[in-house]
Amino acid sequence: MNSRAETVLEGLDVLYPEAHCELHYRSIYELAVAVVLSAQTTDASVNRATPALFAAYPDIHALAEAEVSEIEPYLHSLGLYRNKARAVHGLAVMCVTEFGGEIPSGRSELMRLPGVGRKVANVILAEGYGIPAMPVDTHVERVSKRLGLAKPDDTVNEVEEKLKRKFPRERWIKAHHQLIFFGRYLCRARGPLCDQCPFGTLCRYPDKQIKE
Ligand code: SF4
Repeated sequence: MNSRAETVLEGLDVLYPEAHCELHYRSIYELAVAVVLSAQTTDASVNRATPALFAAYPDIHALAEAEVSEIEPYLHSLGLYRNKARAVHGLAVMCVTEFGGEIPSGRSELMRLPGVGRKVANVILAEGYGIPAMPVDTHVERVSKRLGLAKPDDTVNEVEEKLKRKFPRERWIKAHHQLIFFGRYLCRARGPLCDQCPFGTLCRYPDKQIKE
């Protein structure tokens, strides 16, 4: 591990020793649906919508048997609710018809499911199955670039590869949660709290906001 990566991991352990997935779920089915729903919205919004959705459709078979139009009202508050209803319904149908009613545990199978791209597949692998993966969402991408773990013009896939190279495999899942907490609560997209940040000397963000 290079010293920058080591310093970041040590600092994140101090800041967020208990970082975790903030989506509420009780099974891999609920996790997969919640992660698909979280595209372009906050985990908190998804958590407000999913209790009623999962009460109505308690397992993947129930969701697969529903009509998309019946699912839509549960997702109204999330934006893009028609697309999201179609995606989670399609996901359920494919899991039932092709994967024996299970959420698959392989990346290539996961990425065939509607609404599941590389990031969502990585979350399901890491969070649902405990398989080392490094999902790169908007927070992880931003803070990795600010912390100098990736270059400003790196693609999301390049950021993922660099983080996986720089962090030990056994730390990928926890580091991913910690980078999300760091981006969500401290190194925010607008108005990062640089005065509270332990990484000032590493930071490559040109507009960091240190009060004189
Ligand atoms: S100094 Fe500010 S911009 Fe830089 S990593 Fe810390 S919070 Fe983010």
